[in-house]
Amino acid sequence: MARKFFVGGNFKMNGTVASVKEIVANLNAANLDPEVEVVVAPTALHLISAREGLRKEVEVASQNVYDKPNGAFTGELSVSQLADANIHWTILGHSERRTILRESDEVVASKTKYATENGLNVIWCCGESLEEREAGKTIEVVSKQLEALKAQINDWSKIVIAYEPIWAIGTGKVATTEQAQQVHQAIREWLKSVSDKVADETRILYGGSVNEKNCGELSKQPDIDGFLVGGASLKPAFVDIINCRL
Ligand code: PEP
Repeated sequence: MARKFFVGGNFKMNGTVASVKEIVANLNAANLDPEVEVVVAPTALHLISAREGLRKEVEVASQNVYDKPNGAFTGELSVSQLADANIHWTILGHSERRTILRESDEVVASKTKYATENGLNVIWCCGESLEEREAGKTIEVVSKQLEALKAQINDWSKIVIAYEPIWAIGTGKVATTEQAQQVHQAIREWLKSVSDKVADETRILYGGSVNEKNCGELSKQPDIDGFLVGGASLKPAFVDIINCRL
């Protein structure tokens, strides 16, 4: 099955009412490759204005979601609140949440389970630190993160995997096409332990200092099915990344 190319934009804790409006206007005015699925993730504060302002084929994601129904969970956001706001995606397990906010593999898996079982699509992130890469542990670390997910998930059809080496995020140090392809291929191999169908159909995105200059080469790799873009998703060049295969 051909996997539809996917480009996500993670705004992180950036943007103002005015700047998000500007990004929305830029995306609405652009000629976007219709063969690419585009999802942008502004902060919780800007989700509704982004959803209401954006052309309908561009989807919106939250950057986190909780694994419980509505209730006494101060500061959290629920799956049903997102659905009510016409938001069908979330990012989970971003390395900034795993490291700074100390979300464990199990917590990320539990959130992913709750989200997908309740109809939300998930951009599920994984990746190794520089220390782990230098110790030759990249595949081991990513496999452990995937194992924790597999322990809780049955339905993989709502999951897009983003491989994001931590040392490449926001650093300007992009993984080489060979480094990225090698890990993507290993993830696809690992997915065969779920099923051949899941390995064949699951999109695996690369994330880590993707920009309009390096996206073309990366996009040609057989196991790279798109990107999760941080810093560059706030700039007009995000459109060039979406259109990298035109
Ligand atoms: C990210 O945070 O998901 C990311 C890939 O960031 P950047 O593109 O800025 O490295």
